[in-house]
Amino acid sequence: MSGSHPHSSTVVERHLSKQQEAMADTEFGAWIDGELRTGGPKRGVQDPVIGCSIVDVPQSDSASVDAAVDAAWEAFEREWEATDARDRSARLFEWAEVLKDHTEELTLLECLDCGKPISQARGEVEGAIDTLEFYASVCRAQRGSEIPGGKNLHLYTTQEPYGVVGGIVPWNYPLWAAAWKLGPALAAGNVVVLKPASDTPLSTVRAAQLSEGVLPDGVLNVLPGSGSSVGQAIAEHDDVRKVSFTGSTDVGSGVMRAAAGRVAPVTLELGGKSPFIVFPDADVQKVVDAVADGIFYSTGEICDAFSRAIVHESIADEFTERFVEKAESYVLGDPLDEETTMGPLTSQSQFETVTEYIETGKQEAELLCGGGTPDDPELADGWYVEPTVFGSVTNQMTVGSEEIFGPVQTIQTFADYEEAIELANDTRYGLAAGIGTERTSLVHQTADDLHAGLVYVNEYGPILPDAPYGGFKQSGFGKDLGIEALEHYQRTKSVYVNLDDPEL
Ligand code: NAP
Ligand code: MG
Repeated sequence: MSGSHPHSSTVVERHLSKQQEAMADTEFGAWIDGELRTGGPKRGVQDPVIGCSIVDVPQSDSASVDAAVDAAWEAFEREWEATDARDRSARLFEWAEVLKDHTEELTLLECLDCGKPISQARGEVEGAIDTLEFYASVCRAQRGSEIPGGKNLHLYTTQEPYGVVGGIVPWNYPLWAAAWKLGPALAAGNVVVLKPASDTPLSTVRAAQLSEGVLPDGVLNVLPGSGSSVGQAIAEHDDVRKVSFTGSTDVGSGVMRAAAGRVAPVTLELGGKSPFIVFPDADVQKVVDAVADGIFYSTGEICDAFSRAIVHESIADEFTERFVEKAESYVLGDPLDEETTMGPLTSQSQFETVTEYIETGKQEAELLCGGGTPDDPELADGWYVEPTVFGSVTNQMTVGSEEIFGPVQTIQTFADYEEAIELANDTRYGLAAGIGTERTSLVHQTADDLHAGLVYVNEYGPILPDAPYGGFKQSGFGKDLGIEALEHYQRTKSVYVNLDDPEL
């Protein structure tokens, strides 16, 4: 990033005008108890394409967390606790309808805020809405159970919400990540206090405002603010009964420690360094596309990125040649263009982190393509890096073992099945893993042997709300999505009703 701002290029002009359009009808701040709170110091939210602030957002603090938690409990006790699944389902469907009417507005906010290509931003907004609709549907199909405990005993279980739950989400898929927490938590009967990432609060604050008149005041509270004040306050709050966190492993383990003090359960979705094993019989082009999609989607700022290609030595040359060709085919450009397939990184600090990893990679491995910033003058003000590929990588190298969270691929080779599995599992993470092969039996055996919570075969994604999503090892525990997530936001109660022998 250069310090100066030309204010002259087409891209800059276009962004300034789109920013105005996006801000026209909306004021940003905290959404607490059904109203916008705009007090507190402000923080500029950056447009990573042109490196200037879109809007200054008032920052919440720990006192705001206290206010939101109080309002949330009040809403829970006043009315939300008494709702049944049918009521909550209707409200969630209604909110989803309102969000659908605002899809383009939310897409524009997400695109400007994250620098995500607009087609991807739109897909994620639609994914967020689909997630809410999934939970609006499945909460009505939940069953309790009756347990045959004895003749004079009526023994059954029920599910209850926790009350106030806290959510803390990252900046790489802001609204979608928020919906992963809100959908199951609200459908299960909880009320929520959610903190978006400081870098990307806009879409989530706007979506909360769009719940006005649909969700009762206090049921959904969104507090933009820093991790160290708002995030920490949510994690530590005595009256927050469960915390669901998505972000880095270090911060996640801190959240777990904070919640441990009051024995509150946590769900943690953390980092990854996900391998993709390419077997000798793989359809090479299909797998090249899958792995590229897996590392270059969202500029590599994805937790389940396939950042390690582990390729059988017999096809390594062909795979590498085609992969480099594919990497070079990405269209770096203005995320507002439908044709753009790669935008900038989301923040300056992420740009610095990724650039540093690339420089380290140049020292320890073989740079096969990329490694710098694009020379298009229109992109000079943005936090862009080229799709980068390193060869001759080992698991001992920094770029082979640490999560980079950028468009940086490493390629290494293996000789036999055991070595492939050993290399793939040799990481502290276990979020996702990929398999490239045309043999069904190999798919099942490999899926069984991989230590990861998600396995993709011959593709990257999709991510459907229908299936549980989450990692093994230091990638976290508990699941987002699926029926499992709904259950994680509930507590099970066993009720023993001892019956007398009927007297006639
Ligand atoms: P991060 O620093 O852990 O931040 C995540 C969230 O936690 C943000 O809202 C952040 O607030 C907040 N936070 C920071 N410090 C906190 C504290 N002491 N107490 C409570 N909350 C705190 O992660 P990141 O660097 O923004 O995001 C990238 C990481 O997230 C990567 O490791 C990635 O793999 C992981 N991730 C995982 C998944 C998944 O589903 N498994 C999905 C996406 C991302 P601020 O914004 O103010 O810093
Ligand atoms: Mg951070």
